[in-house]
Amino acid sequence: MQLDADLQRRLIKAVAERVIVHTDELVALDRAIGDGDHGLNMKRGFAAVLADLDKFSVMPLDESLKGMGMALVMKVGGASGPLYGSLFMALGKALPAQAHRAGLAKAFAAAVDAVKARGKSDVGQKTMIDVLVPVLAVLQDTAGDLPARLCAAAQEAATATIPVRAQRGRASFLGERSIGHMDPGARSASLMVCAVMDVMEGRA
Ligand code: ADP
Ligand code: MG
Repeated sequence: MQLDADLQRRLIKAVAERVIVHTDELVALDRAIGDGDHGLNMKRGFAAVLADLDKFSVMPLDESLKGMGMALVMKVGGASGPLYGSLFMALGKALPAQAHRAGLAKAFAAAVDAVKARGKSDVGQKTMIDVLVPVLAVLQDTAGDLPARLCAAAQEAATATIPVRAQRGRASFLGERSIGHMDPGARSASLMVCAVMDVMEGRA
């Protein structure tokens, strides 16, 4: 699947910058129920992506996604680095030859499955998966207006992690005390989805 190089560049840049702008918020969320590094981990990873923006913009999209996934694995660290790395790499691997919704939904499903396998996790455990799965559901639902709903669905899903008790990652060590806080990985996932949709809908 090919994208216009200018669009590809704007998408990558928007996702990276959106995550970096929210570093402090992600740090604060992770400080509440983890070790406080999620924002800095993600900032390091996406700074590496931005450093290679010229390269990632002109590569075929599947190769670009795989390359960014590898950069995230190497630079983000923590639990989230391998998980987001798996998401990007699996998405690149499964990307359809032509851009069409059903093929994209299928590729995103494969990417979400890769995260689940890597994290030995599933929906409802207060992780990034709690955002990725509802986003996939919107992609798979061919009835509605896709762009309008994807970002909203991601944000709602991130908010919906607040009352959940964590069952994966560091937050799970807190047991009941993880209740009442948004999961940092769910928040970072929603930021990325909304950044993509802002570009696709001409807001960025
Ligand atoms: P660490 O927990 O090693 O400090 P980060 O703070 O960067 O790593 O990332 C924490 C986020 O990673 C969590 O908020 C959660 O969304 C996600 N996460 C952690 N463990 C898992 C897992 N097993 N499956 C899916 N997501 C996970
Ligand atoms: Mg952390």
